[in-house]
Amino acid sequence: MGTRRPPTCPLCQGPGIALGSLGRLHWYRCRHCGMDFSRAARPKKPHTPAVQPARPTIQEHQA
Ligand SMILES: [Zn+2]
Repeated sequence: MGTRRPPTCPLCQGPGIALGSLGRLHWYRCRHCGMDFSRAARPKKPHTPAVQPARPTIQEHQA
């Protein structure tokens, strides 16, 4: 483990050749069947700097 393998074709699982990135997708072309397929640019990132939902502020009981 530790070696980065090229993405495989969803059809024949052949090796994908990087075509380039378009937006958030990386495009590859299968070397076997020639089909173009895309993968998300960011593989696994649990921490997404998304907009946090507005949290209702907890108000403490004030006497
Ligand atoms: Zn293929």
